[in-house]
Amino acid sequence: MAIFPIRTFGDPVLRAQADPVVEIDQTIHRLVADMLETMYDAPGVGLAAPQIGISRRVVVFDVGEGPHVLVNPELLETEGEWSFDEGCLSVPGHFWPITRPAFARARGLNLEGRSVEYAGDELLGRVLQHEVDHLNGHLLIERLDTKPRKQALRDLREEALGLGTYE
Ligand code: ZN
Repeated sequence: MAIFPIRTFGDPVLRAQADPVVEIDQTIHRLVADMLETMYDAPGVGLAAPQIGISRRVVVFDVGEGPHVLVNPELLETEGEWSFDEGCLSVPGHFWPITRPAFARARGLNLEGRSVEYAGDELLGRVLQHEVDHLNGHLLIERLDTKPRKQALRDLREEALGLGTYE
């Protein structure tokens, strides 16, 4: 297993539509092990493969009940509304109040290739939606309303320009 550097805002891999997994082979098992190690090291509650530069539809998460994997996950159902200060390992140091459905149900495959389903509200519902977004090339910033989104992009741009300067 290995800890991978986490790709950050601006990296094109985060904007790409990730490819479905055709066969759950040793490469996928290794990928999941690396993703879990990287997620726990960060630390974070969820990680999508594109965040370590692998454009495949694989996510891992742990909202306090142990590690879970979803290969080729799909959101089946969302419901309600909940505003939560959401962050992302790919946009480190930032949290924004983001409104999304409170409840989500997702289905995918586990590492044995069996169909599994996870459903929940609050943190689990949020993580499922956030990670599936990553596989479709979407970052949390896109879920903000126009005005806070523009401000967030301005902040991130200024931060990027500030890299390497001495103050
Ligand atoms: Zn994220």
